[in-house]
Amino acid sequence: MALVQSLQDLHTAHRNYFASKRGVRKGPKTAPPKMKRKSGRQSIRLTRNGFVLRDNGKLFIAKLGDVAVRWSRPLPSDPSSVTVVKDPAGRYFASFVVETEDKPLPELDLDETETGIDLGLSSYAVLRGRKIASPKFFRRQEKKLRRAQRKLSRARKGSSNRRKAKLAVSKIHARIADQRRDFIEQETTRIVRESQAVYAEDLNVKGMGSKKGKRAKSVHDQSLGMFARTLENKCARYGRALVKVDRFFPSTQMCSACDSIEGPKGLEGLRIRSWTCTCGVVHDRDQNAELNIRREGKRLLAAGLAER
Ligand SMILES: [Zn+2]
Repeated sequence: MALVQSLQDLHTAHRNYFASKRGVRKGPKTAPPKMKRKSGRQSIRLTRNGFVLRDNGKLFIAKLGDVAVRWSRPLPSDPSSVTVVKDPAGRYFASFVVETEDKPLPELDLDETETGIDLGLSSYAVLRGRKIASPKFFRRQEKKLRRAQRKLSRARKGSSNRRKAKLAVSKIHARIADQRRDFIEQETTRIVRESQAVYAEDLNVKGMGSKKGKRAKSVHDQSLGMFARTLENKCARYGRALVKVDRFFPSTQMCSACDSIEGPKGLEGLRIRSWTCTCGVVHDRDQNAELNIRREGKRLLAAGLAER
């Protein structure tokens, strides 16, 4: 069953590719399917006739039998499929496709609660009236990761030390991913609860990676992309407006008092924490940027220019 599913997925990928090529498929161009990259992650997907949820909490998987599951949450509806994943750190996960309904939160006063978000300079994010500090664990884990990777590179190919070193690296990666997900879930939930509208810079996350060429994206960069995506999904699910402000909008350079564009630019702008405009107003760089993004987002929202 798992093999048939793989073939069906490949078929879907080809169908999407050719439809995209002929121009009959909406959305961005679809690339032809690529060979799967070798990785420590393995998975199988089973549709409705391949698994059964037992009353005693076990999961019956075809050809495997009953498997004990530690449920992270009750399923909101009957799942249409399950994907069983073994991650590189050797942990197994069951992930279900379920249907849920959007649950709009009670509406808040727009003017009082709308916020701009300036992502990823000195702090993790700058919001209206508060900042989210960069979590320290990224740095700590990155250090650990480098040490483990050095050990791995010194281990002889095919040796059992190498296998162990590889698992150690995978475990650190897994831990970083868990912490990151947890952090992002908590922060985005708080934002969605507090704000009726969220205005954020449209990060070009793909571009951010390619600019640096082949060098791996830092843990921080990766997490910003995930933060933006998670926030967008939550806004949609809980009935909050999300407006993306053009990433070339000069949020940092513009003076929020007189609209002149005289603030710190480029690399210099990353270092400077506060600046004085020719109009005499002293700005905290981050707060000024947030205010500019908020105003621009509000303008786009009012003009109906917001892309949804
Ligand atoms: Zn000014």
